[in-house]
Formats: sequence, structure tokens, C-alpha cells
Amino acid sequence: MSILEVKDLSIAFNQYTTGLKQETIKVISNLSVALEEGEILAVVGASGSGKSLLAHAILGILPNNANVSGTIAYNGEALTAKRQSALRGTEIALIPQSVNYLDPLMRVGKQVRTSAREGDAVVSQRAVFERFHLQPDVERMFPFQLSGGMARRTLLSTAIVSGAKVIIADEPTPGLDPAVMREALSNFREFADQGCAVMLITHDIESALTIADKIAVFYAGTTVEIAPVEDFTGNGEALRHPYSKALWRALPQNDFIPIPGSQPRPDHLPPGCLFAPRCPLATHTCDQAQPEMRNLRDGVVRCIHAT
Ligand code: SF4
Repeated sequence: MSILEVKDLSIAFNQYTTGLKQETIKVISNLSVALEEGEILAVVGASGSGKSLLAHAILGILPNNANVSGTIAYNGEALTAKRQSALRGTEIALIPQSVNYLDPLMRVGKQVRTSAREGDAVVSQRAVFERFHLQPDVERMFPFQLSGGMARRTLLSTAIVSGAKVIIADEPTPGLDPAVMREALSNFREFADQGCAVMLITHDIESALTIADKIAVFYAGTTVEIAPVEDFTGNGEALRHPYSKALWRALPQNDFIPIPGSQPRPDHLPPGCLFAPRCPLATHTCDQAQPEMRNLRDGVVRCIHAT
């Protein structure tokens, strides 16, 4: 059984247009993804593909005007708003995109200690700071005194001392220098190797490939493919979806061929397959309805022509 399972998740927002007219804009549609213990699932895709909203939906921190449908289950049980609030920061931890999530007025040692659930909080905080090469004087600092790398290691420390079973890291590496980034990525691998489930949300597919077990490719608010990391090789012939193949071949170390066109905006989604306007393999059948996710070889794909 997957520790976390998202099924057919759709998220829409009501928005005022001209005058008092309201319009509903679907930003995530029929998204399904599952997370296993001991595994890193990297969620990759361009900005605006819905990756961060998925994290916020799992944690129950979407804005009030979000209309959500579908199911999210944790340990086989529906993740209701009440369970989300009980598990958030304890069993399910977020490593956010912005270090602004740190309380600017609280010393960082104290912030980390407030997340500790077992044993002596001070001992746990100091042990984790040592592990992340944060000097003893750092615990008395305020967030504004930290470098970007130190702030990220503080956020990682918070997740560790909480004893979380699921860690959702939302774009945790931008702005980090290469050494700190490698260290942060190896920390995620370490969490997973200790039995944690890690969802790494990123647009940096190259870094994701160095540590992930599986890659979920997002496009325009839905998953188009979930593939084992080994499939991202050669010319992408093992991949299933035309977008995943194109994304892979667009990398500088591969063919560096840009994908023509651009991702559709949530208020201008095409009627059938969301990738159809850019897909070299599109046929008129692709415009009829959004393809369902289906199992193919060792992965899943949302494309009627994938073989
Ligand atoms: S369903 Fe059709 S348009 Fe969509 S990715 Fe597959 S071939 Fe391309």
C-alpha cells in the first residue's frame, strides 16, 4: 500500500472577470500520483504546471477559494482537513520553496526545537545542526542572519527532528551553490533510505535524476507520465509520453532541441489531450477527450498513442 495516494485530484479557483461575473479556472485536472515508503518521487514540469499546488493540497494549505475534488489518502485513510492539520509538520512535513517560512522573530534553534516530537528537543536540535554542519552559535541567530544555504539547512533540520514519514520538498534547491545543493539532495536520499517517503517538486530534472527513484512529469496541471528514473536515458526511447521525450531531449546535454509552442494557460486549455497543440504525433482522436492514465511497461502514461 502506498503511504500517500492522490487520485483524480482537480483544483479550480473562482475568479472575477468583468463586472461581477465569475469564472472558474481549473488549474489541476484529474491528477493521480502515489508515494511509497523508502522512495523519492520527483515531480518535474515547467512553472505553471501545478506542482506546488499539489504540495499545498496534500498539506491542506490551499487558499479558501479553491474548489477541490478527488481523494488524497495517507496510510490508506482519507486525508480530511482535520487529519491534515494534525499531521502537518509532524508526520507530513513541507520543506517550502521560500525560506520566508521561517519565523523572522524567533531564534532558529528554538524554531527547530518546537518541531521535535520525541526525546530531548535541545539534544535533537543540536545533533541535527551538527549533521548539517551548522555551527553551535547558529542556534542563537535569527533568520535574517543566515545565508541562503544555512536557512535551507535549518528548514531541513525542522523536517528531520519532527520525525516526518513523508517529506514534501517544494523547489528546495534554487539559489543554492552547487556544493550545498548536492548536500541537500543527498540528505533527501538519506531520508528515503531510512524509510521516509520523499516527494521532490522541482523544475530541475537533471538534479532530480541523480537521486529519485521515479519521475512524475507534469504538464498543464496534470501528470502525463510516471516513469522509473532509468528510463531517462539515450534518446528517451524508453519514455512513454511525447512531452516527457521532448523534455528529455531539450536538456543541454542531450539534443538541446526546444519544444515548439508553449504550455496552455489554465483558462485556455484545449478540449482533449492538453499536449495536442504541440504534439508531433497528434491525430484528430486526441482532441476528443483528455486521455486516461494507463499502465504501460513499468510506468503510467496519459496518451492514447503511446506504445
Ligand atoms: S494523446 Fe495524442 S496529442 Fe496527446 S500526447 Fe498522445 S499522441 Fe500526443
